[in-house]
Amino acid sequence: MSGEVETKALEVDRLQLIKKLIRGKGFKLTRPRKLILEHFLESDRHLTVEEIYQRLESTKIGIATVYRNVKLFHNMGIINEILVDGVAHYELKIYSKKALHLHFQCMECDDLIDIHDKELTMDYLKLNRSIEDKMNLEIYDAKIMYIGLCEKCKDKR
Ligand SMILES: [Zn+2]
Ligand SMILES: [Zn+2]
Repeated sequence: MSGEVETKALEVDRLQLIKKLIRGKGFKLTRPRKLILEHFLESDRHLTVEEIYQRLESTKIGIATVYRNVKLFHNMGIINEILVDGVAHYELKIYSKKALHLHFQCMECDDLIDIHDKELTMDYLKLNRSIEDKMNLEIYDAKIMYIGLCEKCKDKR
């Protein structure tokens, strides 16, 4: 069995889980919703509404529908919203292939980079824990964007 077949099976599982979550909140998994979700499940990148719309062009789903459903998924906590210069980028938040990660934006080339390092992620979780303890509060989410120069742009200077 090839890796691709296994990956496909995992994607179907994850789609089933998300489907259950959507139904649990009283919504139907309509065709546009299913197509948009499949897109997020397949993609490793951060996507804008415009990009999703363009990739689904052959399905004749309008941009207003994409926009509405992306907002809905975001409100349900299924996808994450990352703002880059005022433009919203989205990625799967739950059932994602990608583990918890941090974000870096290059101010020169605008590249949005995932920071995947396991040790750094642990440090980040520890920091959250310390903030909770020191400030006596509960953290559910954090919108942190590191800004600077990526490796390529740094070397060019
Ligand atoms: Zn750069
Ligand atoms: Zn990311």
